[in-house]
Amino acid sequence: MKNELFFNRESLWKTLDEQKLKETQDFGESYKSFIDNSKTERKCVKEIIRQARADGFVSFEEIQKEKKKTLEPGDKVYFMNKEKAVILAVMGKEAMETGVNIIGTHLDSPRLDLKPFPFYEDKELALAKTHYYGGVKKYQWVTMPLAMHGVITKENGELVEITIGEDPTDPILMISDLLPHLSKDQMSKKMSEGITGEGLNVLLGNQATKEGDEKEAVKAHLLQLLNEQYGLSEEDFAFAEIQLVPAGKARDLGLDRSMIAAYGHDDRVCAYAELRAILDLETPTKTALAVFVDKEEVGSISNVGMESKFFENTVDELLEFQEGTTRLSIRRALNRSKALSGDVMSAFDPNFPEVLDPKNSCYMGKGVNISKYTGSRGKGGCNDANHEFLAELRQTFKNNDIQWQMGELGKVDQGGGGTIAYIIGNYNTEVVDCGVPVLSMHAPMEIVSKVDLYMTYLAYRAFYL
Ligand code: MN
Ligand code: MN
Repeated sequence: MKNELFFNRESLWKTLDEQKLKETQDFGESYKSFIDNSKTERKCVKEIIRQARADGFVSFEEIQKEKKKTLEPGDKVYFMNKEKAVILAVMGKEAMETGVNIIGTHLDSPRLDLKPFPFYEDKELALAKTHYYGGVKKYQWVTMPLAMHGVITKENGELVEITIGEDPTDPILMISDLLPHLSKDQMSKKMSEGITGEGLNVLLGNQATKEGDEKEAVKAHLLQLLNEQYGLSEEDFAFAEIQLVPAGKARDLGLDRSMIAAYGHDDRVCAYAELRAILDLETPTKTALAVFVDKEEVGSISNVGMESKFFENTVDELLEFQEGTTRLSIRRALNRSKALSGDVMSAFDPNFPEVLDPKNSCYMGKGVNISKYTGSRGKGGCNDANHEFLAELRQTFKNNDIQWQMGELGKVDQGGGGTIAYIIGNYNTEVVDCGVPVLSMHAPMEIVSKVDLYMTYLAYRAFYL
C-alpha cells in the first residue's frame, strides 16, 4: 500500500533506457555548443534565428514583402525585437482565437557591464569601472577569467563588435582580490561588503606607451590598442553596450559527465529546450509561440523585456493573417491561451540544507520542475498557478512519459524570487513556471544535470503538441 500511496521520484539516470540516455548526452552536446555561441542576449537571438532559419522559419518582414494574405497551418515565422528578443511562431490547425500555446524564457544573465566612461589608470595599471547587472554575489566575480563582449555604433554609423577572451589564444580580463595575508579587516566584514560594487574594477593593462610625455601612459596605451584594432575612441565607449562575462566554454561536470557547468544556464538552458521543442513541430493543433525576452534579471521592464508591448503586437500581427479577425481577436486569443514560463529553479544543494525544505525542493536528475508559485514572504509578488491548468499539465505530462518534480525556491521566509510568469498572466492566460533545476544559480558558473535538460525539452514539446 505504501508504494501506491506515497509520492516517490527516482533519478532519471536509473529509469531512462539506453536509447534515452544516449539522446540525453547528444542533447547536452548540442546545448553546450548553443551556449558557447550565446554569451550575451544579442548572441542568443542571433543563434536562435540562425537555427530557426535553417529549420524553415522566415522573418515577418519577408512575409509582409510577399504580401501574403494568410498564414497557413504549419507556416513558421519569426519576429525579432531590437536584436535582443525574438518570438518564433508555428501556425496551428485551429484559429488563434481559440487560444495559443506559449512558452516564454529569458535570454539575459547576470554579468558586469562597463560604465559609460570606464577607463582609468591607477599606479601603472589600466582598469575599467563596471556596473553589475542582475542579482550577483560580488565576491564570486573576482579572480575569475572574464571575456569582453560588446557592440558599438561609431559616430560615422559603423558597427563595431568586440569579443575578447573566448578564443584560447586571446588574453582574458580579471578583477583582483586581496591576499589573505592582509585580509584581516576584509574577512571580518559581511560577505555582501567584502567586495563592493565600486570595487569591481577590471584589470586591462600594465604596459605604458613610450610615445610622448603621457601622464596616463598605461591608459593611453590601452586606448591606442583599442583604436588600432577597432578604430574606437574613449568617447565611443560612452555609447556602447559592453559586457564582461566568464571566459571559456561550457564543460561537462563530474567524473560521470552527468552535469554541465556553464555561464548563463539561467535562463539559456530553458531557452534552448524551448527552441528545440518548437523546431520539432510540424503542424500543431494550436498555434505555438516561443517567446525569448531580455531584461528578466532586472525586472522584465523596457522595450525588450516581457513587459514590452512587443509580445502583444506580435500576436496581433499574426492574427491579421487569419480570416475573420476582429478588434477583439487578440483579447480572445490570449484569454484562451496557455503558457509555460520556462525558468530555472534552485535544486537541493547538500551544502546548504538549512535554507531548503527537502520535501518541497527539486533535485538534480529527477526531471523537469514545476513551480506552482514563486514570490517571497507570504508568496508576495507570485504567480500562483490555477489547479485546473495544473491538472491539464499533469495529464499532458502523464500521457507523454514526462517525469516532473515540484519544488519551490527555498524555506519560507528565506528569500524568494520571480519570473516572467505574472506578466503573461496579466493577459488572463493560464500560466505556470516550469523548467530545469540548477545549482549555484546566478554564480559565474552554474550547474545543471543533463537528464533534467533533456526532460525539460520533452516536456516543452509535449506542451506544444
Ligand atoms: Mn531566470
Ligand atoms: Mn535569474
